[in-house]
Amino acid sequence: MSGDEEESVPILTVVQAYSPDIKVQRLMQQFRGMVNYIIRAGVRSGKTDRREFGEERRYLRSAYRLESSLVQSAIGHAAGILKLRKEALKAGQEVKEPYCRRLFLKASDGVRIREGILDMPECMRVPLTERTLEVIGSHEVKQVTLTANKCCISYSLEPEPIPTYGVLALDLNLRNVTMADTKGSIIRLDIARLADIPMTYRDVQSRFTRNDNRIREELYQKYGDLERRRVNSELHKLTHAVVEYAAENNFAIAVEDLNGLRERFTRESGKTERYRAMMNHWRYGEILRQIAYKSECEGVELIQLNSHETAGTSSRCSSCGCDFLVEESYRTLKCLKCELVIDRDENAAKNILAGALRHRAVGRPEEAMREHESASSKVDGRQVRHG
Ligand SMILES: [Zn+2]
Repeated sequence: MSGDEEESVPILTVVQAYSPDIKVQRLMQQFRGMVNYIIRAGVRSGKTDRREFGEERRYLRSAYRLESSLVQSAIGHAAGILKLRKEALKAGQEVKEPYCRRLFLKASDGVRIREGILDMPECMRVPLTERTLEVIGSHEVKQVTLTANKCCISYSLEPEPIPTYGVLALDLNLRNVTMADTKGSIIRLDIARLADIPMTYRDVQSRFTRNDNRIREELYQKYGDLERRRVNSELHKLTHAVVEYAAENNFAIAVEDLNGLRERFTRESGKTERYRAMMNHWRYGEILRQIAYKSECEGVELIQLNSHETAGTSSRCSSCGCDFLVEESYRTLKCLKCELVIDRDENAAKNILAGALRHRAVGRPEEAMREHESASSKVDGRQVRHG
């Protein structure tokens, strides 16, 4: 029973126990008073649409001196009741004048969760339980109803999709993540620590000389758990930063799919045993998984390129598209055709970006072309940030 506009997004509600303090109880009484006032006005005048109660709204604002969003919410609730009454009358049913007896309060504008607390109009604050926070996650809170013993929070099941204006391409390497985007920025995130963590523990493990297999197993297990926790915390920081940057700039995220990555790392690896061990510990699958679910939570589009679409990423010139790249110095490549000198990872990231724009062009040609124009016009004035 609500006078609110219908939502196209699915709405779910989570309920937690709640006992209002004196201040909230008083606000509930005032809310109920406003609802009953509008019901009386509607019964007298025959009005049922919330927009028709302008005069009453002005009266309530000056009589109760509450935030306008709460007054609007009371009017909306009353209008819903009046509509039901009108339908019942039309159907020839006998209807008493509606009247709200129970204490409650409803708010939709100005409700949001901040640091585990539900902020509501009139400075009402409801601390949320861990379970409630977990259920809501990063979904958007739509409406809150407080009663004498419950707090009901309605949230939309899908995040509002972020309009996508560009693409952020990710090149995952052992010791860094290099990102190229359609605004022309190149950003490199250092993840050397991530590769070093497993090595530290592997070195510790190799020093065990105990003959007792059972004890050795236990020690391995213990160090394995520690390692997983440390790596996971680093991974979350990294993927959070990437998805947040994409969301802020309205970028879709483009990545190589797991198979493409595996192929590339197999090609790159095979040097020393230590290097291979590091590869085994490399959590690129986990990075992709985290970026995928965090993107979905934030409404960021994810473009996964297959190995065919990213073939030659590390051997093709990102400027002229030729294959005449030679090693200029450590991790720097030079193009024999157009004489471009470029960092190896930056070149790869730009090729993945181009692959993502081609991938998109299949579906939405005009948009992808616009993006490509803006991407290529900025190639010369490229901005490089390390760190
Ligand atoms: Zn070239």
